[in-house]
Amino acid sequence: MSDTLFSKIIRREIPADIVFEDDEVLAFRDINPQAPTHVLFIPKRAIATLDDATDNDQALLGRLMLAAARWAREQGLAERGYRVVMNCRDDGGQSVHHIHLHLLAGRRMTWPPG
Ligand code: 5GP
Repeated sequence: MSDTLFSKIIRREIPADIVFEDDEVLAFRDINPQAPTHVLFIPKRAIATLDDATDNDQALLGRLMLAAARWAREQGLAERGYRVVMNCRDDGGQSVHHIHLHLLAGRRMTWPPG
C-alpha cells in the first residue's frame, strides 16, 4: 500500500503532537482541530480504509477504540462525553488513507454530522 503522511508521523519523519503510544497504536492531535480536544488514534500497521479491514484486524480495531476510550477517561473527558468517528472513503469524508479514529471532545456535538 502507498505511504501516507500518517506513516511518516509514525516514523517521526514529520512532527506531530503525540499524546499516546503503545506497540500497536499511536495518537496525536489533529492539525486542524474541530473541537477543543481533537485527537487521531491510528494503528501503526497501516490499513487504507475501514472497508479494507478484515477479520484479522478485529483485535487491532478493538484496541484502537479502547485506547481512545481509556485516554479520554484519563484526560477527564469521559464524564461529559465525547465522539469517536472513522470516516471511510470519499462520501465518508476520508482524506488520509490510513485508518484513524477521530476523538472529539470539549464541546457539545451536533447530530446529524454535516
Ligand atoms: P479524515 O478527513 O481522513 O477523516 O481525517 C484526516 C485528518 O487528518 C483531518 O482531520 C486533518 O486535519 C488531519 N491531518 C491532515 N494532515 C495532518 C498532519 O500533517 N498532521 C496532523 N496532526 N493532522 C493532520
